[in-house]
Amino acid sequence: MTRAAVAVIGGGVMGASVAYHLAALGERDVVILDRADAPGAGSTGRATGGYRAQYATAINVRLSLLAREKLRRFAAETGIDPGYAPAGYLWLAASAGELDVLRAGRVVQHAEGLAEAVEVSPAEIAGINPAIRMDGVVGGAFCPTDGFIRPLRMLEGYLAASARLGVRQVWGAEVCGLRRDASGRVVEVETARDRIAVGAVVNAAGPWAGPVAALAGVTLPVTPLRRQIATTTPCDLLPADMPMTIWAGDGFHLRVRGGRVLLLWPTPGVPGQPFDASVDPAWVDAVVAMAHARVPVLRGATIDRPACWAGLYEMSPDKHAILGAAEECPNLFLINGSSGHGVMHAPALGQLLAEIIGHGRAQTLDVTALEPGRFAAGRMNAVSGLL
Ligand SMILES: Cc1cc2nc3c(=O)[nH]c(=O)nc-3n(C[C@H](O)[C@H](O)[C@H](O)COP(=O)(O)OP(=O)(O)OC[C@H]3O[C@@H](n4cnc5c(N)ncnc54)[C@H](O)[C@@H]3O)c2cc1C
Repeated sequence: MTRAAVAVIGGGVMGASVAYHLAALGERDVVILDRADAPGAGSTGRATGGYRAQYATAINVRLSLLAREKLRRFAAETGIDPGYAPAGYLWLAASAGELDVLRAGRVVQHAEGLAEAVEVSPAEIAGINPAIRMDGVVGGAFCPTDGFIRPLRMLEGYLAASARLGVRQVWGAEVCGLRRDASGRVVEVETARDRIAVGAVVNAAGPWAGPVAALAGVTLPVTPLRRQIATTTPCDLLPADMPMTIWAGDGFHLRVRGGRVLLLWPTPGVPGQPFDASVDPAWVDAVVAMAHARVPVLRGATIDRPACWAGLYEMSPDKHAILGAAEECPNLFLINGSSGHGVMHAPALGQLLAEIIGHGRAQTLDVTALEPGRFAAGRMNAVSGLL
């Protein structure tokens, strides 16, 4: 039997961030346990690397602004460049209703200090991204400080910096049991090769957070949702600094990464197989047809079918993160359910959870809106289809 003050289950960007921030606060007796043989096997390694602060709720804007501040000093803090590149996020509306949703989001964004988020006219959109076919586009939204990050560099940075502070990392360590004592606290974490006596546990298991919480008898409403990505072969059809461009109506979006154009369009996962992360060839055909219609220059691109990939979002019922101690288990801490925004928010959420564990409450931001108990209490955050 070994011991740790805090065991972090999951060595993706969330687990690495909270481990780093715990160590930075002075709690260095931390172990990261991950069932994969090496870092990046979960959603963090599948993410495209978008960063935005254009959200529709105050808490999400605040998380993004805190994360942006931390991304700007990430290299100084960890020694690794997180690749924050403010190329902008451009949203396109095809109806007055869609434009109204973008406007309502902007009221929240401006109230939180994101003054550079603006409405853009069709003429301005054509100037920002000349590759778009403008038929049917009635207006949009643009924020120049939104843009891109490098998920695996961020993971690498937090793992390296936490290791320097003494955090242990164990790969190939699947957690298969969480034992609670009579008071309800988790006292032991069991892996295939070890039993670890613990003071606290962090569930940072991404899309698998529900099954991990269940090991302690805790019900956590986080469900996986497949997201697929089609990629072209390397080409110069679109500029490397093109903003992330999103059709608000159906969520189709595209960006350029590493010389390739990435095409995304959200669809439901495979019925009855929530953890299936295979690529559906018919989906690739459909998303390519959308790209040809909306960005005509892409008719000259070649799709690299073997390089297309899929991964799993970790959805919560209101598409907001779940942060803090589980209601039923006071030393099981949750950093889950970011619903597809987890890489960009990991710097903020990791710091905030470390504050909760170390100081009893988050000090940098009020995170009441993210409390695990909000679903049972009927305090869900407003869900916006677009933002
Ligand atoms: C296609 C796609 C595109 C995305 N694009 C973006 C984007 O542009 N911007 C953005 O911010 N976010 C994006 N996301 C979301 C983002 O990837 C996630 O929110 C984020 O990576 C979650 O990090 P995590 O550390 O919680 O999960 P993960 O990276 O999945 O890490 C969880 C870890 O837990 C481990 N684990 C699971 N069960 C156990 C167990 N029982 N014992 C031990 N270890 C276990 C896994 O091996 C894994 O390494 C995208 C996601 C996908 C799928």
